[in-house]
Amino acid sequence: MIEINEFDKIIAANWKLNCSLDFLKHYFNKINSNDIKPGVCGIISPPLVYIQNCSLHLKSSSLFLGAQDCSLYNKGAYTGENSASMLKDNNCQFCIVGHSERRQIFGETSKDVKKKAENLINQGINPIICVGETLAEKNAGSTKNILYEQLSNSLPEKSSSNSIIIAYEPIWAIGSGLVPSLEEINDIHSYIKSDINKFKNYKILYGGSVKSSNVKEILNLENVDGVLVGGASLDPIEFTKILNAC
Ligand code: PEP
Repeated sequence: MIEINEFDKIIAANWKLNCSLDFLKHYFNKINSNDIKPGVCGIISPPLVYIQNCSLHLKSSSLFLGAQDCSLYNKGAYTGENSASMLKDNNCQFCIVGHSERRQIFGETSKDVKKKAENLINQGINPIICVGETLAEKNAGSTKNILYEQLSNSLPEKSSSNSIIIAYEPIWAIGSGLVPSLEEINDIHSYIKSDINKFKNYKILYGGSVKSSNVKEILNLENVDGVLVGGASLDPIEFTKILNAC
């Protein structure tokens, strides 16, 4: 398992359901991760069928390999699933769990997220656990309550700041071009770190419409330890700029 506390900043890409052999050829021709500063952890999370292909490309790079989800189950009659041990066999070092698209589209609960994170930790893979509020919840003033509930129920008992990364992703900011103000981002991250005392030392990423033009100011915030990037990570030049923004 990678020791998260060794890093100052974490920059994670989530490619979602976007990839092809042509895309990979182009991407790895263009991305330049040689200039990543020491202390920065860069992660690429492709769709699972391309994980071996990416793993070969990443051999000569300083980027880590991540997955976008893993099964609740470890083995057996679960058609279409991929277990944490299968991710491990395929060189995955990180895995996103509880992304809002999994929670909203596939009905994943915080209890499921917790079990998946436990499976990952048991295999020595670092979970990146996502939490975030909807626009209606934000407008109702319940963001902090929602986050408290999601965090309390999604993190395994044996989690530690060295094994787990938290990603705060306001759902209304994902893929929308909308970004909370810098004060709002810092306030939420500070709430997670200071008010929910047990997460004091955790690395907390911000996710939601991050691009090369806004990443620096977000990364400069006191309580932000990195970013989780969707759309902008699909462009290798753009993602190179984001990786080098620290
Ligand atoms: C995401 O889905 O995790 C995400 C942050 O997406 P985007 O950067 O496209 O808003």
